[in-house]
Amino acid sequence: MSGYKIVSGSVDSITARVMCGGCGQRFNVDLDEARKLPRDWSLWDEVVDCARSLGSVQGEHILCRECTSKVDAGVPEDRNATRAEVEAILSRESAR
Ligand SMILES: [Zn+2]
Repeated sequence: MSGYKIVSGSVDSITARVMCGGCGQRFNVDLDEARKLPRDWSLWDEVVDCARSLGSVQGEHILCRECTSKVDAGVPEDRNATRAEVEAILSRESAR
């Protein structure tokens, strides 16, 4: 940390609020100060990366755990879904 001189108190935690690109559910992502991140990452990059631990990032969508399960069930296990596959699977689900 630079730019601030702290004489008391501390930053306890940083939590980002993320919205699932499939169902719109919002969930919290806790950032971990101890993680070593690439120097050129923005805070947004870090949040997206941390969202993977609670769901996934596939086909340019941040997905909650439930939507990740639906997408994973619809594509081969050895790869992530493409954007078109994610959108097709989740639009089929929402039409039910
Ligand atoms: Zn979802």
